[in-house]
Amino acid sequence: MSTAIWWVRRDLRLTDNRALAAALENAAQIIPCFVLDPHLLNSSRVGERRKAFLFAGLAALDADLRARGGRLIVRCGEPATTLARLAAESRARAVYAERDYSPYARSRDETVARALPVPLVLTDGLTIRRPDALLKDDGTPYTVFTPYSRRWRSHPPVTPQEILPAPRILSVPESIAGEPLPEQPRLDVAALFPPGEAEAQARLRRFTTGDRAPIYAYAQARNFPALDGTSMLSPYLRFGMLSARQAALAAYQAMESAPTPEHCAGAESWLTELIWRDFYYSILYHFPHVVQGCFHRAYDAVAWENNPAHFAAWCAGATGYPFIDAAMRQLATIGWMHNRARMAVASFLVKDLLIDWRWGEKWFMQMLLDGDLAANNGGWQWSAGVGTDAAPYFRIFNPTAQGQKFDPQGVYIRRWAPELRLVPERYIHEPWRMPRSEQLRAGCIIGQDYPAPIVDHAVARQRVLEAYRRVRSD
Ligand code: FAD
Repeated sequence: MSTAIWWVRRDLRLTDNRALAAALENAAQIIPCFVLDPHLLNSSRVGERRKAFLFAGLAALDADLRARGGRLIVRCGEPATTLARLAAESRARAVYAERDYSPYARSRDETVARALPVPLVLTDGLTIRRPDALLKDDGTPYTVFTPYSRRWRSHPPVTPQEILPAPRILSVPESIAGEPLPEQPRLDVAALFPPGEAEAQARLRRFTTGDRAPIYAYAQARNFPALDGTSMLSPYLRFGMLSARQAALAAYQAMESAPTPEHCAGAESWLTELIWRDFYYSILYHFPHVVQGCFHRAYDAVAWENNPAHFAAWCAGATGYPFIDAAMRQLATIGWMHNRARMAVASFLVKDLLIDWRWGEKWFMQMLLDGDLAANNGGWQWSAGVGTDAAPYFRIFNPTAQGQKFDPQGVYIRRWAPELRLVPERYIHEPWRMPRSEQLRAGCIIGQDYPAPIVDHAVARQRVLEAYRRVRSD
């Protein structure tokens, strides 16, 4: 009987999976295989929580496969030799996988293709539109989001016919054995982020269907971290438990059935975020130097201060700026942070503390469930003002004003920094201004229960403007 290998990487789903569909089209039996690559598992950029989310996601995929007569085969080792061995052992006629765009993934896939005795067939699916298919008229890649998104939207919308259904049944050769997943700490946030495709589908449905669907309020609600205004789908998109194309289809369908133009604008702005996701994959694909340094190389020369005590305070959520500290504690506690808060803390690290954006980027990769090279690197370079389509270097977030604007009553702050719970609203964004009597009443002595600000924003602002000005060529 003909056999093919479906090499699972970051596409832990059965619905709308072109690699799986292609394998099933070309062989009577398939071997769904996940290779535990030591390079990724031992990387200092991969945190325990994301690993636990992945492993639990693999268990969910295995259960979904078993419900259809199959199972997941896990093998440990370097991908080229592991897959070559499996291909020989199973007499597979080809290996199918979803194309990935990071420099590591691309060079790994080239090595695997060379090592395999059979073809490695790569299919689309990680992004909605392929990075190499969306270019300017002169054939060069876009580096600015707005024209990129205009071109992106000029393509026909995703249609329901494009979304491939999950196979009903599949068969895996009896003779092929897997290895157990290594022992891993339990995923402590499983109640908040239950891993697996079923949860991803349920979240998408909840977020996008019905007249009162959250997607319709997204344009406004998305900026307020105390509200559940965003989809919280990022860990699922990160591991392909949901296809980005299906998410885009849901956005288009919500736009079509929007009861009012305002509702339609909400759905449209959610689609825009999915386009940002595609955009950053495109940047990573066309400009791989961003992995190591700034897109605008001049900024590699910024004289960062890199004060380790300041970095430790930022990581711990102990900077003395409540909005920043709440956000960093949300990250430490649940492995996820609201987008508005990500922008604020990134700006604070780089602009207020004058710390190299790569320190923060790495910390995020270690801590985030959705840690993704393309989006994270893009988000950090944007916030630092050193990337493509960056915020101008002189636009510097004020950490106090960010809180006042996007968490006016301090609901988010009190949730994540409970020592500030009883601080009156008028001081919640600047607790250091509280008179001693108020501090006593709120049970929050500055410098004892909660830190005084570790930098003065006004002074820090001048310092970073000068540091950036020195390396600018224009
Ligand atoms: P929603 O608002 O519901 O958006 C839907 C989806 O669109 C998200 O799940 C995500 O896949 C995508 N998306 C949304 N915003 C962006 C964006 N600005 N750039 C790229 N894709 C986007 N996102 C990650 O997935 N992984 C990361 O490692 C990551 N690091 C970031 C670092 C910084 C400094 C910043 C400013 C942003 C980062 N983002 C990252 C983007 C964004 O913050 C998250 O995608 C978003 O907060 C996830 O929440 P959600 O699923 O509720 O998003």
